[in-house]
Amino acid sequence: MEQWFEQVWYCAPQSSAPRQPGLILSAGIHGDETRPVVLLRQLQQQLASGQLQPARPLLLLYGNPRAMARHQRMITENLNRLFTSPSSASADGQRARVLMDACERLGRLGPVAAHFDLHSTIKPSLIERFALCPVSPVSPESPPPCHYHWAAPLSRAGFGAWVQQTRRAATFSQFTRDALNCDSFTLECGSHASKPDRENRLQPLARWLHDLISGAAALPAQPMPVTPPWQRFRVTEEILRRSDDFQFLIDEQEPNFSAHPPGTPLYRDLDGVVKAAGQRHTLFLNSQVAPGQRAGLLLESLQ
Ligand SMILES: [Zn+2]
Repeated sequence: MEQWFEQVWYCAPQSSAPRQPGLILSAGIHGDETRPVVLLRQLQQQLASGQLQPARPLLLLYGNPRAMARHQRMITENLNRLFTSPSSASADGQRARVLMDACERLGRLGPVAAHFDLHSTIKPSLIERFALCPVSPVSPESPPPCHYHWAAPLSRAGFGAWVQQTRRAATFSQFTRDALNCDSFTLECGSHASKPDRENRLQPLARWLHDLISGAAALPAQPMPVTPPWQRFRVTEEILRRSDDFQFLIDEQEPNFSAHPPGTPLYRDLDGVVKAAGQRHTLFLNSQVAPGQRAGLLLESLQ
């Protein structure tokens, strides 16, 4: 295992078989989301001890070591909004630059199959674990042209929903999607506000990632049946806090994916009250953001 940067590790494939596409795993972009970090550290220990032998080039990244050491979400800025060029001059912006450099370095070694950026949500969710898919480089409105069929393995790994983004954002997964042309996902692995996880519900995900690294699990070249319950959503609107008068008219503390019928008054801001244009599900509601920042997402179910 080779350390490329602070808390960024590269593992060369052990096998002499033809080169396999690479894999990027990251966690701790938000320093207080500890369970995915624990999962990544377990995989790293298995790699370091030789118990796990990588069949493909692997990059392991711990997103924000300084925020992780302080058990806080960020230092000064939300790191997952800073994957842009030129980089922000802040400490978080410089860290985003390091992570982007590492991914580009992996990309120069050969094709990359996928990047899974592991997070956990602040609030509970009606669908506990879900995948957010960044927009396609071709067109936000076109179906995402993934190279592989991830729905079935993600559903078997305990994920219940696929959320298709429709606007480009400066997130880590959007960066790798665009820069490396790999399949990228932000994986929300449960709520970090929930009680200690005695059953360790991340074990199916840990096992699958282990097997993807070792080659025991193949890259999903064919679509396979998903494990129910599995739902697909599409982002219809990004809720921006535009003024100090912004106010939610629904319970901001409701769990992610809560449904609201058409016509429900959702929030009030500069242009008055905004109502649900159709049946809408809410995600990441948070009014405590600076004006101009995202206060939540509205989704429509594609079922
Ligand atoms: Zn996060």
